[in-house]
Amino acid sequence: MAFSIQQGWCAQARQVPSPNYGPRPDGAAVDLLVVHNISLPPGEFGGGAIEQFFCNQLDCSAHPFFREIEGLEVSAHFLIQRTGELVQFVNTQERAWHAGVSSYQGRENCNDFSIGIELEGSDDVPYTDAQYEVLRQLTHALIDFHRDLTSERIVGHSDIAPGRKTDPGPAFDWRRFRTAISGEST
Ligand SMILES: [Zn+2]
Repeated sequence: MAFSIQQGWCAQARQVPSPNYGPRPDGAAVDLLVVHNISLPPGEFGGGAIEQFFCNQLDCSAHPFFREIEGLEVSAHFLIQRTGELVQFVNTQERAWHAGVSSYQGRENCNDFSIGIELEGSDDVPYTDAQYEVLRQLTHALIDFHRDLTSERIVGHSDIAPGRKTDPGPAFDWRRFRTAISGEST
């Protein structure tokens, strides 16, 4: 069954509401998709720390690295885990806090007009087939729901914050993803 978005929530996602969001600016179109990666601790997969982090519930005593990110308030709209499980933290009509200082085609502050999707992973570790498949389905559903979003308007975090961010990294196969998306678009 095809994925669908209903009132900003993906029907196929497990909802884990994050407090880290706010309204988009008045009249802001949602017209950019930003692909990220994250793993907590870095390079380790599974375990649920990403969800805790995005909900300000990370136990910072659990790992030395967690001290470095203690107190940060961030989020993304979606997380696609290694297994392909899809988690949604923020309604896509709201502004999630994933891009930071960023710029796309001369427009600053990409959080205002973008949707952020985190792939559980790290820059140099191949993503799973399940992740590519869920990303494809989710992207298609988002393009259906957000009328200003197109398959051309998909970037990596590194594209909108060059020199500061490297994700989703060389391991992300853009050609594979773009081919899958174009095959799906009408
Ligand atoms: Zn990122």
